[in-house]
Amino acid sequence: MNLILLGPPGAGKGTQAKKIAVKFDLPHISTGDMFRETAQSGSELGKQLQGYMSAGKLVPDDVVIAVVRQRLSSDDAKKGFLLDGFPRTLAQAQALDKALAGDGKKIDGVISLTVDADEVVRRLSSRRVCVACGASYNLISNPAKKEDVCDACGGKVIQRADDNAATIRNRLEVYREQTSPLIEYYSSAGVVREIDGMQPVEEVFKKICAVIK
Ligand code: ADP
Ligand code: ADP
Ligand code: ZN
Repeated sequence: MNLILLGPPGAGKGTQAKKIAVKFDLPHISTGDMFRETAQSGSELGKQLQGYMSAGKLVPDDVVIAVVRQRLSSDDAKKGFLLDGFPRTLAQAQALDKALAGDGKKIDGVISLTVDADEVVRRLSSRRVCVACGASYNLISNPAKKEDVCDACGGKVIQRADDNAATIRNRLEVYREQTSPLIEYYSSAGVVREIDGMQPVEEVFKKICAVIK
């Protein structure tokens, strides 16, 4: 089963992806998580990635595509995968289709999570994340039991540098212009299922599970 989770920043992709990955035993592949990890390493590439991310700009397609191709070629992705935050442009989607076709594979489902712009701003400005395991918390809807400490792994919980008002606006604009056309792209293949992401986490998860089954 090869799946994509699509939706604007703050739609709940990461939150749902972690639950789907456990339930359906699929590797959760998040390009954002991979880029943040590389950025932390402080390498030259890491510094470049950090520059794009802090501005709320997309990392160039050739870099993203190379990273994802490499990740998809590892053993655990042979049985299927769940992509979160990729593809984000038409060029990425086309490159993905081409790479999969070369292995006789395809995308089986695209779960499109919808939330309105006001909710995106609310969620992202109150989002907190664990630097160690990537768990996503929210000051309003899902606070960590002990502030600054991850419930799951004890790691440090922080606010992402790109979760500020100005960058959030950029990311929403980038989503509207570059990523939302992918819904149409995958619709023509008949694999898109739209899910209302405005409901509570468990409600959204139930609907996603029903669609996957
Ligand atoms: P969010 O969870 O808020 O949607 P992500 O963690 O997926 O954000 O991504 C954070 C940042 O990493 C993006 O703003 C962008 O700079 C970069 N990024 C992640 N995935 C991609 C991608 N597929 N293409 C280009 N840039 C990406
Ligand atoms: P994305 O990966 O799409 O950017 P996240 O999963 O990181 O989104 O969620 C963004 C923020 O919204 C986080 O603080 C998360 O705890 C919160 N959140 C996720 N899903 C919901 C939901 N259904 N209702 C309310 N808040 C949510
Ligand atoms: Zn953690």
